[in-house]
Formats: sequence, structure tokens, C-alpha cells
Amino acid sequence: MDAAVATRPLDWLADFPAIPEGWAYLDSAATAQKPVPVIEAITRAYGVSYATVHRGVYQRSAEMTLAFEASRRRAAEFINAAAPEEIVFVRGATEGINLVAQSWGKANLKPGDRILLSTLEHHSNIVPWQMTGAEIDVVPLTDDHRIDLDAMAAMIRPEHKLVALAHVSNVLGSVLDAKRAADIAHSVGAKLLLDGCQAVPRMPVDVRDLDCDFYVFSGHKLYGPTGIGVLWARHEILDAMPPWQGGGAMIDKVTFARTTYAPPPARFEAGTPHVVGVLGLHAAIDYVEGIGLDAIAAHEAALVNEARDALRGINSVRLFGPEDSAGIVSFAVEGVHPHDIGTILDESQVAIRAGHHCAQPLMDALGVDATARASFGVYNGRRDIAALVRGIERVTRIFG
Ligand code: PMP
Repeated sequence: MDAAVATRPLDWLADFPAIPEGWAYLDSAATAQKPVPVIEAITRAYGVSYATVHRGVYQRSAEMTLAFEASRRRAAEFINAAAPEEIVFVRGATEGINLVAQSWGKANLKPGDRILLSTLEHHSNIVPWQMTGAEIDVVPLTDDHRIDLDAMAAMIRPEHKLVALAHVSNVLGSVLDAKRAADIAHSVGAKLLLDGCQAVPRMPVDVRDLDCDFYVFSGHKLYGPTGIGVLWARHEILDAMPPWQGGGAMIDKVTFARTTYAPPPARFEAGTPHVVGVLGLHAAIDYVEGIGLDAIAAHEAALVNEARDALRGINSVRLFGPEDSAGIVSFAVEGVHPHDIGTILDESQVAIRAGHHCAQPLMDALGVDATARASFGVYNGRRDIAALVRGIERVTRIFG
């Protein structure tokens, strides 16, 4: 690991009040801790600047509306959307995928149509598609646990109307070659949805360069608040989608005889929005861009290398995922249930995740019930990997 990686994280760690000295927080793939600028933005939004939006007859609400819409512009810039109107604020990736499945699905899926997913998808990129009633096909993984795009190219056919894939796997850290996936999907006229939950905190994302059709992510994994996320889609796609929830703010004109709907994104944002969450997300985007997504990617790549090398040195450890996984390392210790690993590590002040990680079909494919997973963020450093390794050595001693 180079000197920059060894020293810089200590600066970033100081931004996170929830991480006390000596605690190795290695569960950022579940949710990231929050830096002071995000906490302050939330405090201000609920404090001195609080008001609702889009009801701007008084000054405070007009100001809040400006801040809210500035956050939409910021989110658009962050992923290089063509226009702020392509950004729909949702509760998180789960809601974004359900929105597409129900709205786009209702307008575009006919009996006999099929959807293509992969073995490593999170349940939130499986179940909403099952609920559309479309037939599901599943792209297998390569031996090194990536989505097998050669297999995808061989499987895809015109009945596939949509392909939905994780940009980065939440279990294995595998990074999708998204441009190639887009080419393959588009070769039969299918749309490509990318689940960017684990990608946006870890690497620069440019939706136009990736050439996808839908992109979703959650604020809380990007060092922002819970309860807020983004669905992006190209304007012409959103414009042709019917509303999925009815209520205030999403209408043009309501009568008992007939209601007409607002254009996107308002059409998809029924009800009072999560105003404070949106402002917190803005602060989170400023925070990660202040560090630089390339710098974060390099930092996490160095941590992954170091962790994989160290864990490989322990005989009973089995590593999952490709060598160049992004910020996430899943592993097993022979003869020890991942929950026991997690509990023993917790006694050593190391917080990892153990379980199926909402990816039960992937667990079946790996032939395990669960894995232990260490995942990194900007606040992690070599000391955390050292603590992880010491903890796992203790696990192996306890279990003989
Ligand atoms: N997809 C992936 C790859 C994830 O890691 C997660 C969160 N674990 C989700 C979707 C769902 O995100 P959320 O619960 O924030 O909606």
C-alpha cells in the first residue's frame, strides 16, 4: 500500500463521529457511516431552514424549494445525467427498482416477455421483477464470480425486454463491464437497468458513458441519509412511463371525472418528499466528490488487495469474488458458521456482516448458507485490516 493510502484515511476518519477509536467498522456495503458535513446539513435542514417544498407562497418554503431543486441538479451532475428532470427521488434503490418494475413494466411487458437477471443479484433486483409476472432468465457467473457476459450474449433473445444487473455485487464486489452489458442488451432492443447501490460510493459513475437506460442507488450507502435514493432514466423513457403512486404533487389537474399527471420527475414523486433526506444527499455527494471518486476507488482497491493477501495467508479461510473486487470481500472460515465469526469479531471491536446478504440465489450457487463479509469505506485503513486478521486468527484458535 502506498504512503498516500496509508496516511489520507486518517484525515477522513476524523470526519466520522460515529466511529470511535479502536472500532473497525467493516460494514459499509450495508450502510456507510455519516461524515460531519452530512450530519450538519441534516441538522440545518430540520433546524433553521426547515419548511416544506413546492408550496412557495412564503419565503422560507421558496428557499427550501430552491435548495431541494439544487440537490436534484447536483445528483444529475454526479452521475452525468443529461438534465435534472431525469432524476427521480425515491426512498432508495429498492423503491427505484419497484418503480421501474411496476410503471415501466405495466406499460411495456406483455405475456411471453422475459427479463434477464444474474445469479449475484440482491433480492431487491429479483423480487420486483418476479412481481411483474414476466418470465425470468438468469445469467450465470464466471469461475472468478463475475457476471458471465459471454453467457449473457449467448442467452439473450428478442423476448428479453429488460436486463437488470448489479453494477457492483454487494457480496462479491465484482464490477460489471456495464458498457458491454449495455451493448448486449441493446442488440435485441432490451433496456438495461443497473443497480448502482454499491458502485456510486466506490467509483465514478457516468450514466451516459455506461449507455444504460435506468440507474438506481441509495443515499445511505453513499455516506448520506437513509430514506432517500435516486432513480435515473433517460427523459424519453420517463416521459412515456405511467405514474405508479397517486397523490399530491404528481398531478396536473384533478377532477372526479378525470385526472391528468405532471411531467417527470414530479409524476413519480407523489406526496411530500423527503426534503431533509434530499439536502443530506446533496451534502453526501459534495463530500465524496471533495475526496474524489477516483481517489476513493484507489483507496478501496488498496484495502481489498491487502485484505485478500492477509486472509489468503490463513489456511482455513476461503475467499469469494474476483481479485479486483471493489471494496467488498466475502469469505468463509472452514468449520465455523459466519454468524460465529461475526460474533467473535465483534468482541474484538471489528464489525462485519454475516449472512446471505439478501442474495440467497447467490449463496445457493456458491454452495453455502451464508458468508462473512468485510466491506470498506473512506474511513478504513490498514489498522482495520490488521484488526480483522487478528480477529479471524482468534476465531481459528477458538474453533481449533
Ligand atoms: N442492491 C444492492 C446491490 C444492495 O447492496 C442493496 C442494499 N444492500 C440494495 C440493492 C437495496 O438497497 P436499499 O435497501 O437501500 O433500498
